[in-house]
Amino acid sequence: MKLIFLGPPGAGKGTIAKIIVKEKGFAHISTGDLFRAAIKNQTELGVKVKSIIDAGDLVPDELTIALVKERLNQDDIADGFILDGFPRTIAQADALASFCEIDSVINFEIEDEKIIQRLSGRRLCKECGEGFHTKFMPPKVENVCDKCNGELYIRKDDQPESIKNRLVVYEKSTQPLIDYYKDKGLLVNIDASGKPEDVSKSVLESF
Ligand code: ADP
Repeated sequence: MKLIFLGPPGAGKGTIAKIIVKEKGFAHISTGDLFRAAIKNQTELGVKVKSIIDAGDLVPDELTIALVKERLNQDDIADGFILDGFPRTIAQADALASFCEIDSVINFEIEDEKIIQRLSGRRLCKECGEGFHTKFMPPKVENVCDKCNGELYIRKDDQPESIKNRLVVYEKSTQPLIDYYKDKGLLVNIDASGKPEDVSKSVLESF
């Protein structure tokens, strides 16, 4: 199964993707995670994209498409994959269509108010990248990762100014993909406002 997870920042695409890949053995391809790893390792790509990502803007299509194309050449995608956070523009979707056929596009629907609640309480582990939420998914010990005891941090782009910008960017550049994939007959709408176990159940039942 080749899936795309589409939806605004904070809709829970990453959280649900982690649940689904565990169950199905798919590869989880998150462009956000790939960029954050590049930043952490201070690679050439990471240095280029850091300020763009911190501000909540989109990395240029050229760089993003090249990254995904390379990732899709790896062997671990044989049993299927979830593209989480890609494509985010029509140009990216057109490029993807030229080298890969997708089975289904899951569109995560959620209101702006909930998005802001989710993003502003989000905490990530500095070491392993595991995600938590101060209210909805708190770690057992405050600011400490349950999985590896790493320290938790707040993403720069989860600060109020960047959150606002990401929502504007989403509406302008990414929302048009809803009609794009609807026209291709690939779109499945999912109510993303519930608990992760309920949302992941709806996703699993959709394909
Ligand atoms: P979220 O879905 O919570 O906004 P991500 O982790 O998916 O966060 O992405 C974080 C940031 O990485 C984005 O705001 C953007 O700067 C960059 N990014 C991720 N995917 C793409 C993409 N497909 N095209 C351009 N930029 C991207």
